[in-house]
Amino acid sequence: MGIGWNFDNSYARLPNSFYANVELNPVSLPKLIKLNKTLAEDLGLDIDKLQSEKGVEILAGNTAPEGAQPLAQAYAGHQFGHFTMLGDGRALLYGEQITPKGERFDIQLKGSGRTPFSRGGDGRASLGPMLREYIISEAMYALGIPTTRSLAVVTTGNTIIRETELPGAILTRVASSHIRVGTFQYVANWGSFEDLQVLAHYTILRHYSSIPNSDNRYLRLLQEVIKRQADLIAKWQLVGFIHGVMNTDNMTISGETIDYGPCAFMDTYDPATVFSSIDTHGRYAYGNQPIIGGWNLARFAESLIPLLHEDEDQALELAQNEISKYMGLYEDYWLAGMRSKLGLFDEEEEDKNLIDALLNLMQQYKADYTNTFRALTLNELEDSPFYGKEEFNQWFEKWQARMARQQQSKEDSIQLMKDSNPSVIPRNHRVEEALEAAVEKGDFSVMEQLLKVLSNPYAYSAEQDDYCKLPEPSNILYRTFCGT
Ligand code: AMP
Ligand code: MG
Ligand code: MG
Repeated sequence: MGIGWNFDNSYARLPNSFYANVELNPVSLPKLIKLNKTLAEDLGLDIDKLQSEKGVEILAGNTAPEGAQPLAQAYAGHQFGHFTMLGDGRALLYGEQITPKGERFDIQLKGSGRTPFSRGGDGRASLGPMLREYIISEAMYALGIPTTRSLAVVTTGNTIIRETELPGAILTRVASSHIRVGTFQYVANWGSFEDLQVLAHYTILRHYSSIPNSDNRYLRLLQEVIKRQADLIAKWQLVGFIHGVMNTDNMTISGETIDYGPCAFMDTYDPATVFSSIDTHGRYAYGNQPIIGGWNLARFAESLIPLLHEDEDQALELAQNEISKYMGLYEDYWLAGMRSKLGLFDEEEEDKNLIDALLNLMQQYKADYTNTFRALTLNELEDSPFYGKEEFNQWFEKWQARMARQQQSKEDSIQLMKDSNPSVIPRNHRVEEALEAAVEKGDFSVMEQLLKVLSNPYAYSAEQDDYCKLPEPSNILYRTFCGT
């Protein structure tokens, strides 16, 4: 018996212009740093064999697994608003693993060396950022947020040159697919009408198979993608996740979060929060994410224009009509999520005001976003910065009265809140601490403990208490970097 690879390569059967076949770029000394055993099992892979020398050679891109057809995907994208050709410059797709349950997942190596799309880059990645993607993507998964996942991280034995020399590493990323808004933009710009049809048809089969094979199926695709993104971005906002680089090439058509570069979770509630060192104008600030989501979806809609109607004006009108519904959909998802965070089962007209008033209090008193909801859930508000303030007391009374008006019991509300408000998130200082121990000291125990705590974010268990604490003031000015 082998490792359990069971590839189908449907993407490789698409038109040649959609990708470039790539050779492997072997590394000198592959070493397995982290393996996601439960994910490996779900994929139908044998954990022992995956950890063997042969398995690690595959995770390092030294030998391809049986049945793989390594390729780099072509895509374009708007980066900070500017359109450009991109493509997998430091990643390769082995193929699609068909799991024992019959599900299909892309198996991609990130940091696997140069491809025809690398431009000036070295095609490599370093250990810190790959472990960071592992930690945060798996935390997102545990939070119940659609996301690509992380199967493994290996070090390569090679050094990569950035501002300093860094240990090279490769992440194995698992995704429903890597089809992006930028994939559609690429085909719409440089492909034929037939290419665009092929891509849209393929995407429907792969991600939206409930759409019937009718005349308006491409409009339905647009509608469904808008819905999934509205839902996804609402989920980000509800947990305080800041993606950091919402370029159109980093927005999937499946509705999964992708590309964990300069992302981070917000501590103090402030819509203007930006962590990314390259986002100087705050384009991708926390409070801007819903708007940018709509902007990206408009770029997706534009790429579909030829498919929506043979008359361009009518196609534009159809597209605009769908795009105009996005913000309302987003707000509905967000409001529903916020009601749950406050233990509310039914709807009242005034709920939006009640929520906004709480957010205003958080901003005014510089309260921690996650810990405010945690404190409301546990009714342990003594440490909140607004505790004892008249405005807060008034808000609290209104909230209590609101809950009393619903049929469900107080206990039901508390349970709903526990299920909706994570008690732990991957706090920046905790992630940094884990990465520092791993990268600088080769001590992976800090990361292991962090991963364990993050794997059950709604548990409200005692071992999590330490992970809810805020950073020391010296840690507060946090900056994230991408491209390393
Ligand atoms: P990202 O900002 O991570 O979405 O990456 C944007 C583009 O830059 C993608 O096409 C990547 O493949 C490419 N890229 C990022 N880092 C490298 C690198 N070290 N070598 C080659 N291409 C890269
Ligand atoms: Mg990217
Ligand atoms: Mg990236």
